[in-house]
Amino acid sequence: MSKKQLRTLISMILVLFILVFAAGCGQKDTENSGSKDTSTTSEITFEPGTYSSTQKGNFGDVPVTVTFSEKEITKIEIGDNQETPDISGPAFDKIMDEIMNGQTLKVDTVSGATNSSNALLTAVEDCVKQAGGDVTALKEKSSEKKAGEPIEKTADIVVIGGGGAGLAAATSAAEDGASVILIEKGVALGGNTIRAGGAFNSYDPDRQKSVEMNDALLNELKGYLDDEPSEYGDFAPTFEVLKTQIKEYLESGNTTVLFDSPELHAIHTYIGGKRTDLNGNEITSDYDLATTLTNNTLATIKWSEEVGVKYSPNINTVLGALWPRTHNVPTGVAYIQPFEAKAVELGTEIMLETKAEELIMKDGKVVGVKGSKTDGTPVTLMANKGVVVATGGFGANPEMRQEYNTYWPEMPLTMKTTNTPDATGDGIVMGEKVGAQLVGMGFIQLMPSSHPESGALSGGVWGSAETQVFVNSDGKRFVNEYAERDVLASAALEQEDQLFYIICDANTAGISPEGKNGWGDDIETLIKNKSIYKADTLEDLALQLGMEKDALVNEIAKYNGYIENKNDPDFGKANFGPKLETGPFYATPRSPSVHHTMGGLAIDTSARVLNAENQPIPGLYAAGEVTGGIHAGNRLGGNAIADILTYGKIAGQSAAAEK
Ligand code: ADP
Repeated sequence: MSKKQLRTLISMILVLFILVFAAGCGQKDTENSGSKDTSTTSEITFEPGTYSSTQKGNFGDVPVTVTFSEKEITKIEIGDNQETPDISGPAFDKIMDEIMNGQTLKVDTVSGATNSSNALLTAVEDCVKQAGGDVTALKEKSSEKKAGEPIEKTADIVVIGGGGAGLAAATSAAEDGASVILIEKGVALGGNTIRAGGAFNSYDPDRQKSVEMNDALLNELKGYLDDEPSEYGDFAPTFEVLKTQIKEYLESGNTTVLFDSPELHAIHTYIGGKRTDLNGNEITSDYDLATTLTNNTLATIKWSEEVGVKYSPNINTVLGALWPRTHNVPTGVAYIQPFEAKAVELGTEIMLETKAEELIMKDGKVVGVKGSKTDGTPVTLMANKGVVVATGGFGANPEMRQEYNTYWPEMPLTMKTTNTPDATGDGIVMGEKVGAQLVGMGFIQLMPSSHPESGALSGGVWGSAETQVFVNSDGKRFVNEYAERDVLASAALEQEDQLFYIICDANTAGISPEGKNGWGDDIETLIKNKSIYKADTLEDLALQLGMEKDALVNEIAKYNGYIENKNDPDFGKANFGPKLETGPFYATPRSPSVHHTMGGLAIDTSARVLNAENQPIPGLYAAGEVTGGIHAGNRLGGNAIADILTYGKIAGQSAAAEK
């Protein structure tokens, strides 16, 4: 081999070596970049087009269509569905934003709208599969939500919580010229208020003009004349006034129109709230707080009407209200929307997904709030005049419920609730840390008639309390349906599976001409998912419910007889609606769930938070379910909205008046 041939051979071996080595390296590189790329979407491709998927939400089908380009999800659309718009709407918006902005499926459900969120997320996932996309990779891809720069702001007043009390406080403070920042930890305003039926108790001579007096109510009034004021504890002065009013009413000779007065409302609040706990401790409503409420409800109605709330002209009795003085709106959203609009119009800044974590104290005064945004951004808000705590109750905090409960023999951690999951008692904990006194914490209201699976109030049909008939699984009545909520819940807990049915006929079911209940739930959907049962006859209804064929026929016939005789020898119901005799008939299965926590921060009639010595903590105000003392052991149905708006307004005014 010549030297030249040898050099050529060596160069060839070298080239071969380089090629093999380079190829080896290349292969390694490809593997590396390949594994790296699966965690990004750069490699995720789709078959461009529009795909559809329908998944089950809370109230039936949620149809979703998703459009893809080769590299991206370009559009998500949600079709007609029966989810509660004011609750699922903000959740849908948030989830769609996160999917689109992050091009990811690593998105959390929104608390308070879990089933709606899951329906949307599962539908999008299904569409990704149909488009040949890599679901696993998209589920691993974080949208990289990073905490932003710390936010620091100052206003005259900082309101914590965007339910009815917080919005009322923000509105009244802004009306009085204060600058206001309202923070809400959820994705939308509303809290428990938006989930409520919206019943509002108030004496109201104009609207009550059309309510007839009946024998049952007249007998109740006459019964008070035999009572001594001393039987009404601190409420004795109010009871004296009430007695005089009743005498005048009876002497007037005109007893065809319903009697009512702020004093009777106060006495009902006292009667409804006077309870003894398991340890033998008696609690009654705070006289000053309760009478401030009942003396101001009518003014609150008028104020809320100026803000834009529209009440129906009809008065009825919401379950557990004890007297026909309940004003009605379609649902709680009828308060949230106008109050939000008014507060914003008056300059209130609303910060959503912003959670208060700590009250800032300076020289013994509350001067601000520390907290954070959902993405972790720290927030410090300084308040020149004061902070209003309106964070609602702790009905969705099972540990806290169990820790404080002294009223119910059992308060299982698993008990469902009508509440937003955000009702975790934050304001009570924050208040306690700065020395606030807590009152009435052991008393927790169970809503007797909640959805057995979701625990929610919605998803059923019924009308005013007079018209409701409760039967157990044997088709037997078991309680006076016009009683207070704790009496009803206690009786319901005694029934098999803690389950009962509210029976209505065509006249008492309260179904709108559009086929919806008060919450806007579609009746046909409720029938499909067995939230309600409907039949042309009571026999058929009984069969659908698995009862003896004649069980309901006999029980309702007996009950109709009681209506005729105005006497219920079984349970002492005195105030009845019409007979149940017009088909179709409806049965709504119900079971008690946690509804309202009566205890909370001690306040005075100016909504100032009190310390252990009953002295106001400077700069700290509270209103709504976060407070205690007004409702004592059992809140009347229809007194919550009255309370949160009345005291919300007072809290805003008091804070705005601070120097
Ligand atoms: P109320 O009937 O007393 O107004 P709601 O339950 O309607 O009570 O409203 C309370 C609101 O406060 C809810 O929207 C809830 O999400 C909000 N909230 C609770 N805790 C906090 C917190 N730590 N920071 C901000 N908002 C909160």
